[in-house]
Amino acid sequence: MAVHSLRGFRDLLPPDSERFAAIEAAAREVFALYGYRELRIPTIEMKELFVKSTGETTDIVEKEMYSFTDGGGREVAVRPEGTPGVVRAYIEQNLSQSGRNAKFYYIGNMFRAERPQAGRFREFEQIGAEHIGNASPFADAETITMLLKLLEKAGLPDCTVDLNSLGCAECRRNYRQTLLAYLRGCQARLCEPCRGRIERNPLRALDCKIDGPWLAGTAPKLALCPDCAAHFARVQELLKLSGIGFRVNPGLVRGLDYYTRTVFEVRSSALGSQDAVCGGGRYDDLVKSMGGPSAPAIGWALGVDRLAMLLKDRAAPGGDPAVFVIAAAKDAADRAFRLLADARAAGIAADFSDFGLSLKSQMRSADKSGASFALLIGEDELKAGTVTLKPLKEKGDQFSVPFPDAPSTLSKLLNS
Ligand SMILES: [Zn+2]
Ligand SMILES: [Zn+2]
Repeated sequence: MAVHSLRGFRDLLPPDSERFAAIEAAAREVFALYGYRELRIPTIEMKELFVKSTGETTDIVEKEMYSFTDGGGREVAVRPEGTPGVVRAYIEQNLSQSGRNAKFYYIGNMFRAERPQAGRFREFEQIGAEHIGNASPFADAETITMLLKLLEKAGLPDCTVDLNSLGCAECRRNYRQTLLAYLRGCQARLCEPCRGRIERNPLRALDCKIDGPWLAGTAPKLALCPDCAAHFARVQELLKLSGIGFRVNPGLVRGLDYYTRTVFEVRSSALGSQDAVCGGGRYDDLVKSMGGPSAPAIGWALGVDRLAMLLKDRAAPGGDPAVFVIAAAKDAADRAFRLLADARAAGIAADFSDFGLSLKSQMRSADKSGASFALLIGEDELKAGTVTLKPLKEKGDQFSVPFPDAPSTLSKLLNS
C-alpha cells in the first residue's frame, strides 16, 4: 500500500505555497509598521489552557480539538487557535513587566478536527495579532485599521467591517439572565446542541448556525452599561476618522467565550463573498481569569487558507527561475555550472536540469521552467568564451555575449 496523507490534511504545493508566503510577507511588513513583534508559541499545550480560555462549551473545545494523554500521563492538546498560547506566554514570561508595549503577532498552523469539506482543512494556517494591556478605544481602532491594511497589502482591497459590542462582564451578567429566561421559553425551537447548553452558556445560541438567524430577530438585545456604550461609540468615531467603512451588526456574537466589548468581522466586497474573511475582538478579562495580571486586550486571527483561496485568481507571486542554464556540449558542463553560480551571485534566480542530457531534453525543461531566458554553452561558445542568450517568453533572436558579461546583461534585460 502506498503511503497517503490523513483525511482533512493538505499538501501545500507551489504556487499555493508561494501565495501563502506572499501573504505572510505582507503581514510581517504591516506588523512592523504598527509596532507588533513576533511571538512563536508551542504547537502543543496543556489541554486545560484551551478548555479554560477558548471555553468549555465552544465547538472548538467540545468537538474539534485534538487532545490526547502523553507518555507522562498529561492531558495535552494540539493548538486549535493562537490566542490562549499568547496569553499563557504573556503571563508565564512576565511580559507585562517588560516596560514595552505587548503587541504580538504569530504565524502558524492550527488544528481542528472539523468535518472535512471543500476549502476547510484540519490543519490550517492562521496569522494573528494580540495587543495586551491597552483598554482604550484607540487600541480597537488601531487593530482593525491594521487588519484592513494587511488585507489590502495581501491583495484584498475594499473590505468592510461588521462591528458589535458584547459589553463587559457586568452588562453580560444581566443579559445572561434575560436571555436565558427567553431561551427557556422557546426551548422546543432550539437545535439539540443549543438546548443542551443554554443553562451553561445561553449566549452561544445567538452564534449557532441554525438558531442564530431567527434569534437575531426575536431574542432580547444586550443593553450596554454607560462605560461600554461610551467605549463602543468612541471606537466607531475613530474608525470613521480612519476612513474605515463599517456597519454595526447586533447579530455578531463570535463563537468564543472570552470576548468582551468590541467584536468584529471583515468581509470582502471586491470578491462578492458573504463569508467573513477574518475576525476578532476584545478579551478584557481573559488574562486575569487565566491567573495573570489585570490586562485588557484585543486581537484577531486571519485564516490564511481562506485568504489564499480568495486570491486564487490573481497571478501567483512567482517562484519561477529567471534564467535556465543549458550545457549543449559534453565538456561545457563545468562552464555552465560556473554560469549558474555567477548568475545567482548577481541576484538572478537560475536553474538547470541535467547537463548530461541532450540539448533537446534540456531545452524542454527550460521551456517548462517559466524562465525568461535559456543560457546555452556549447562547443562554439566554449571556443569563443561566450554565452548564448535565447529569449523564451518573448519573441526575439538569440544572441551571444562574452561569458563575464552575461550576469550584467541579463540583469539589465530582466529589469527592463
Ligand atoms: Zn459594560
Ligand atoms: Zn442551535
